[in-house]
Amino acid sequence: MLEALPEKGVPGEQILAELQGLRAADLPTHGGRLFAYVYDPALEGLDELARAAHAISAHVNGLDPTAFPSLLAMENALVGAAARLLGGDDQTVGSVTSGGTESLILAVKAARDSRPELATPRLVIPSTAHAAFAKAAHYLRVALDVVPVGADLRADSAALSAAITADTVLVAASAPSYAHGVVDPIPEIAAICAERGVRFHVDACFGGWVLPYLRRLGADLPDFDLAVPGVTSISVDLHKYAYAPKGVSILLHRDEALRRPQYFAYAGWPGYTMINPIISSTRSGGPIAAALATLRHIGDAGYLELAERTRDAVAVLAEAVERVDGVRLFAPPETTVVCLAAGGAQTADAGRGAGTVDSSDVAPTVGSGGGVDLFVLADELAARGWHTQPQMAYGEMPATIHLTVTAAVAATAAEFASDLADAVAAARAAGPADLPPAPLEAAGALTPEMVTPDLIAGLAEGLGLGGGDFTRMAAVNSLLNVAPPALREALLTGFLSLLQRPGAAGE
Ligand SMILES: *Cc1c(COP(=O)(O)O)cnc(C)c1O
Repeated sequence: MLEALPEKGVPGEQILAELQGLRAADLPTHGGRLFAYVYDPALEGLDELARAAHAISAHVNGLDPTAFPSLLAMENALVGAAARLLGGDDQTVGSVTSGGTESLILAVKAARDSRPELATPRLVIPSTAHAAFAKAAHYLRVALDVVPVGADLRADSAALSAAITADTVLVAASAPSYAHGVVDPIPEIAAICAERGVRFHVDACFGGWVLPYLRRLGADLPDFDLAVPGVTSISVDLHKYAYAPKGVSILLHRDEALRRPQYFAYAGWPGYTMINPIISSTRSGGPIAAALATLRHIGDAGYLELAERTRDAVAVLAEAVERVDGVRLFAPPETTVVCLAAGGAQTADAGRGAGTVDSSDVAPTVGSGGGVDLFVLADELAARGWHTQPQMAYGEMPATIHLTVTAAVAATAAEFASDLADAVAAARAAGPADLPPAPLEAAGALTPEMVTPDLIAGLAEGLGLGGGDFTRMAAVNSLLNVAPPALREALLTGFLSLLQRPGAAGE
């Protein structure tokens, strides 16, 4: 067991060896074999540089930029670079936040607090918008209006327009969406919002640092940034395609007046007057210095090259999916995501404005179709060293497998392509996941209110999760896939709560 507070201090060397030992259980952050969570440019020396920069500023406090002008200079430089990359001008202002979720919460807060007279401020999003918008609405008590997307998986601008009311403080859309990697029709939505006088946020957290380069390389992608009139704010995560270490995102506003309600100020206590543009108050300069070092080292030309490698890797992966019978592309691979579904015969054409979602794959029973269970396939890929992200069925959409593709995948894409064929064959031979009948039956009769710690502990045991081994997940995923969203939330909350205790597995 890991002891965080030993009676006597432990030598540094021993501690570092222990940390390396713990890290060995993690999924590989580098090497182009993990298709979610991490972003790897595979550039030699970059990690060492970012680490050194992080160390220089780790103890600097972002609470007061007048006390630490180094941080102010770095933040202004990062915001300036993002503004230039994303269609801003000399009116553009912004903030450095800890991540995409914080950027989105603040975009919603600024919009909400620009309309203090409203009893129930509302946020309108397409169903493919990131879950962080739901979190923002929840935290800020803003009502959430979720609008179905079209068959092409893109926001339906007419439907969004119809959802706007006098209480709508913000409309948001994605460039691109995380789940499918497709870009919403930003200019159309922006025109509607401008006409209605409603703020419009573009969530470019995922792709904001790669779309401009893909476009420079000739990709046929619509305008999506502040260059589009009607876009009032945009977010981009530097810890995604800017390849900075975790903990840095940027929220840009078209002008100062739009940003002002984002600030929190309080002088009504005996301590220092607190003025915060973002959620945290004390915060480390480490991630900011590391991000600045990363941007300056890679440079504009470097990002163009990385985007080119990424684009080529996407093409190799997408072609492999199209070639292998039993799986198909679920979304057009137009940015840096490859999203695949089961079913070899039909290819969903989710091309711009033209596609249909195949309804034969809609059955929410398992992640199967065309004889391949997607969750079993994910396990088979993992057994071959490829870590993908299963996505559950949602509404009319079947279960899918998500691949976030980064530049490091250029070196591994061909190998993945051949392993995919093997893994699909193995998944087909294995058939659907073996679900112990007891948990399945129990899940069918469950409601979220019935999910108690004891029930979770029993389910986890029955599904073989007791020992902290999460390598074979098909049964668990199949179970979660048939659970209605509220039940899935309750089950996973209960499970994480079981893990997140001193003395639990993994410690
Ligand atoms: C990752 C992501 C977010 C949330 O960002 P975090 O850094 O994980 O908080 C929001 N929107 C999109 C489109 C994303 O891909």
